[in-house]
Amino acid sequence: MAIRNIRKAGDEVLIKKCREVTVIDDRVIQLLEDMKETMYEANGVGLAAPQVGILKRIAVIDVGDGPIELINPVIVETEGEQCGTEGCLSAPGKYGEVIRPEKVTVTATDRNGDNFKITGEGLLAVALCHEIDHLDGNLFLDKVIRFVEVEQ
Ligand code: ZN
Repeated sequence: MAIRNIRKAGDEVLIKKCREVTVIDDRVIQLLEDMKETMYEANGVGLAAPQVGILKRIAVIDVGDGPIELINPVIVETEGEQCGTEGCLSAPGKYGEVIRPEKVTVTATDRNGDNFKITGEGLLAVALCHEIDHLDGNLFLDKVIRFVEVEQ
């Protein structure tokens, strides 16, 4: 496993649309492992592949309930609305309020190639939306309705 370099806002790789993963090979597994290690080392709750310079539809999330690995995730259902403060490992020191669905259901593929469905509410819903946005080249910074100061 290895810590990968996290790309910062302004890097072109962060505004590109990622490609679907068609084959889950050793490189994809290695990427998942490295992304988790990189996320934990940076104290993040999520990390998307473009944040480490890879334009593949892969993300990892851990909101405190253990790691979730997502390959080719797609939001299939949303419900309600919430407004919370978000940050991003690619935009250190910047925090802002973003409106997201209260609840989202996502379909994805796991590392074994099996499809699964996950429904998240609250912070998990935010993390799912935030990371899937990354895969389409969208940064939370563009969705912020109000930037806020957060004590570190
Ligand atoms: Zn982010």
